Amino acid sequence: MEYQSKFNELYEEMTSCVRGVVLKEEPLKNHTYFKIGGPASLFAEPEDTEDLKTVLKLIKKHGVDCFIIGNGTNLLVSDNGYKGAVVKIGEKFNYMERNDNVVTVGAGVLLSALAKYLARENLAGFEFASGIPGYLGGAVYMNAGAYGGEMKQVVKHVKCINLDGNVYEFTNEEMEFTYRHSKITDSDLIVLEAELELSYGNKDEIMEIIKELNEKRTTKQPLNIPSAGSTFKRPQNGYASKLIEDAGLKGLKYKGAMVSDKHSGFIVNWDNASCEDVLKLMRIVISTVNDKFGIILEPEIKIVGTKL
Ligand code: FAD
Repeated sequence: MEYQSKFNELYEEMTSCVRGVVLKEEPLKNHTYFKIGGPASLFAEPEDTEDLKTVLKLIKKHGVDCFIIGNGTNLLVSDNGYKGAVVKIGEKFNYMERNDNVVTVGAGVLLSALAKYLARENLAGFEFASGIPGYLGGAVYMNAGAYGGEMKQVVKHVKCINLDGNVYEFTNEEMEFTYRHSKITDSDLIVLEAELELSYGNKDEIMEIIKELNEKRTTKQPLNIPSAGSTFKRPQNGYASKLIEDAGLKGLKYKGAMVSDKHSGFIVNWDNASCEDVLKLMRIVISTVNDKFGIILEPEIKIVGTKL
């Protein structure tokens, strides 16, 4: 069937039975922190797990590709967009439920809001994540971390659904967390919620740590310019930002993209950059660092709809 009519049919069927948002040709730059990305053929934001099941069933029935997004803070999307269905697990999955020192958290909860909630509840151990701008689902997916902490240290249990609509539950060990990686990465599993196990602490002390870490972040990172966070993974011996700086690339621009002059680990969209501008700059960084130090940097950001 012709591409456009296939999506028109899917759109018609979805709008008739899905309760959440369903859009056609939605610009993904509206859903990424980088403010880059062409349209998704179809964009759906389900209201809850039952609604998500309906969305997934229709995607399967019409045989189109599917990509899950959270808060879009780790994504670089093609200027041509995504030829398929993008499903946002967003604020509709926003709930937190405390049971002693274990808190059940929906995939659409902002990490910063969660950190503040846990502090108010006198629960410690999540301070490290307070300045990471993603949702819980994206953080579990890639075992997000900062300042010596990572999701692996606090996740007790994860509830997921796959593209066939089957629900699975995993313990911490079964999640196979490693550096910026989990069982969910490169699988067809979608995080619905996670149980986090915290330690008992003191609200004021926790808030003080959060304040210190956020001040550190504000001083060092270009938080007021669109980006997707650290562009490259930490190589085995050292830091990507140091290698990039030592290679003389800090502040280097390619059209609208720039190696941040505040933190060379970040490529920022300083002036209406396209995805191609960012990819070109990434290639320059990778080859220069490799030529100078013999180290091949790997992207930490997720590239969607195109290739590096
Ligand atoms: P998205 O960017 O929407 O998606 C990222 C990946 O997760 C995609 O592959 C997507 O398919 C998948 N995904 C999202 N939600 C789900 C779900 N519910 N189920 C299954 N898969 C899902 N990261 C760090 O680790 N540490 C940092 O200190 C840090 N600092 C940052 C600072 C800035 C200024 C920015 C812009 C980013 C930073 N990041 C950092 C990157 C980013 O915030 C994290 O990776 C975050 O965990 C991504 O969450 P998200 O909801 O935005 O996911």
